[in-house]
Amino acid sequence: MTNIYKALTIAGSDSGGGAGIQADLKTFQELGVYGMSALTAVTAQNTLGVHGVYPMEPAAVAAQLDALGADLPPDAVKTGMLFSSEIIRVVAEKAAQYEWRRLVIDPVMVAKGGSRLLLREAVDALVARLLPLALVTTPNIPEAELLTGMRIASLQDREIAAKTLVEMGSRYALIKGGHGAPDEPMVDLLYDGKEFRHLESRRVDTRHTHGTGCTYSAALTAGLAQGRTVEEAMDTAKAFIQAAIEDGLGIGAGHGPTNHFA
Ligand code: PLP
Repeated sequence: MTNIYKALTIAGSDSGGGAGIQADLKTFQELGVYGMSALTAVTAQNTLGVHGVYPMEPAAVAAQLDALGADLPPDAVKTGMLFSSEIIRVVAEKAAQYEWRRLVIDPVMVAKGGSRLLLREAVDALVARLLPLALVTTPNIPEAELLTGMRIASLQDREIAAKTLVEMGSRYALIKGGHGAPDEPMVDLLYDGKEFRHLESRRVDTRHTHGTGCTYSAALTAGLAQGRTVEEAMDTAKAFIQAAIEDGLGIGAGHGPTNHFA
């Protein structure tokens, strides 16, 4: 094989395989990128919900990142569930040390069932330490509200929030439309500090959307690892996640995973 591109996910394990590290690695593989991982937490999880959260020691996260920094430098990196401000501090320090510039921050906060994947006290650390290092930050609407402190009720509000995220230090902001009103067009919004880009897609009526955010940001990261621009990577990622939602696997009795098979 020629050109091997490597992507790293720094995130939590979902034992059910639909979100977190598992979704990220499957997505990297399907998109032709070599996947690597640094675990921040283990969750006991299935389609019915999160049954336990077991965070890693911050030193264990640092050791994983040092191992990769020393030998397997990633072409792009994404973060998912980071859980605590201590882990965020480690990730920010290592990202700066190893000069990971193609860094996607998926600000994972709460699972669909309501379990916290980021402690409330850690939101400030995410904003202060990690956002300024991000090439792209990919919140859904509730996450964008928590990061910016503003209420988002319209597409115009979303544009204001995207501007705020860029002012907070993220080079690009991608606010996803999945949590918008069901009767509104579903639009993902990208802002690069100058212009807005709107990507509209068909809303799929399904309960099998577990891991959607992880999969979308992993696909974006895969494209960035392959040297694509943010806009190009967004197009590929959007096509991948749309197909993954439309072709849901229908497994499990609850909120099932999307379909990572390309
Ligand atoms: N579990 C882990 C480990 C995750 O990283 C994520 C990502 O957001 C989730 C669960 C969330 O899953 P859901 O899409 O069902 O909210």
